[in-house]
Amino acid sequence: MRVAPAPDFARILHSKIDWHDYHFIEQELRRKGNGEQGKPATLPPHFSAEEKEKLYKTNGFNALLSDFISLNRSIPDIRHLQCKNKKYLKNLPSVSIIVPFHNEHFSTLLRTVYSVIIRTPPKLLKEIILVDDFSSKAHCKKELDEYVKKYLPVVKVIHLPQRKGLIRARLAGAKIASAPVFVFLDSHTEANVNWLPPLLEPIAENERTCVCPFIDVIAYEDFTYRAQDEGARGAFDWEFYYKRLPLLPEDLANPTKPFKSPVMAGGLFAISSNFFWDLGGYDPGLDIWGGEQYELSFKIWQCGGQLLDAPCSRVGHIYRKFAPFPNPGVGDFVGRNYRRVAEVWMDEYAEYLYKRRPHYRAIDPGDLTKQRAIRTKLKCKPFRWFMEEIAFDLVKKYPPVEPPDFAHGEVMNYHLKPEELNT
Ligand code: UDP
Ligand code: MN
Repeated sequence: MRVAPAPDFARILHSKIDWHDYHFIEQELRRKGNGEQGKPATLPPHFSAEEKEKLYKTNGFNALLSDFISLNRSIPDIRHLQCKNKKYLKNLPSVSIIVPFHNEHFSTLLRTVYSVIIRTPPKLLKEIILVDDFSSKAHCKKELDEYVKKYLPVVKVIHLPQRKGLIRARLAGAKIASAPVFVFLDSHTEANVNWLPPLLEPIAENERTCVCPFIDVIAYEDFTYRAQDEGARGAFDWEFYYKRLPLLPEDLANPTKPFKSPVMAGGLFAISSNFFWDLGGYDPGLDIWGGEQYELSFKIWQCGGQLLDAPCSRVGHIYRKFAPFPNPGVGDFVGRNYRRVAEVWMDEYAEYLYKRRPHYRAIDPGDLTKQRAIRTKLKCKPFRWFMEEIAFDLVKKYPPVEPPDFAHGEVMNYHLKPEELNT
């Protein structure tokens, strides 16, 4: 009797395919119109400066103009040339896309959703979850629910009964998400060509991995789409401003390969649900906005995972001209968030933050028992390990203790007459 040869499971599991949808790419290249191909868009001339200003003020970008750009506009494929013929695993996990929003403008929110739907292979897209963080604008309520019900069956909307802040809003979305991988996006983003497979492959290969796309710039004034640079490693200074470190020689030698990044920029990343919950998600004690990118990045690295940036995955983001939200009356929430992150994860390095912002010492960080228990349970490494092994070049650029001045003295105009000197 002849026996059929056993299927080569290893080969099937590791086979790679070209995930591009060439027919759709062709169609997109032919699109013409306002803001198409990511070109500068313009407002119809009959609008007054006041009309434009009104929506600018509540959004921090030119929201009125957004209404005159297609929700499924085309954007330029600005990936590295070698990305265009890269293949990825055939066997990739599906995703739940989680988008928190507070008073997002209707058309920028929907453009985020459409860009994902039109540029994601349907079998990888399980659902898009929009989490309304207690918005007060009317269009974020019934109008959105009805639109989604009518046109976007893959989208779910949840409305939070109180302002929870972006961190707890992301957590609320993650709690109802059912796919094996979560992808978090801001509510004013546009996913670019073939953006998802490069984010998923490193996770399929190693579950304890979080992957960020390159974040492109959508101009707040005219919606032009452009690169911010050709990639960098995320970092911070000792006032906790987000900074970037240069790529390493091995990263430059492999321009399409995901590279290690010490910290993520914040809003845009993919992570397996198992790994996310194993890390305890985000610290739910972080309020409104700020510090969560450090918390998650530190614990990813310190607790045995890795954080990568995938150059072949690009997503545009509107960097606002100014923050349009007033403080919701909860005091210095950013300072309190930073204090929580520093106390739980940064060990002796927390001092460097407090030296620059002495008032942090007086802020009550609240109960940290649960966060510390996660660190103990997962046997996470000390912050010193993170600084020496992962962010090893950070201290050269951002010294924790400022070096003494090279020189000091006065500068004065050589031709100044002695009587003009203010002594
Ligand atoms: N967001 C939220 N609740 C808040 C603040 C922000 O849901 O209290 C949302 C916001 O709508 C956006 C994301 O969280 O989708 C990130 O916030 P934002 O874009 O203001 O941050 P930035 O990108 O300017 O750092
Ligand atoms: Mn944003």
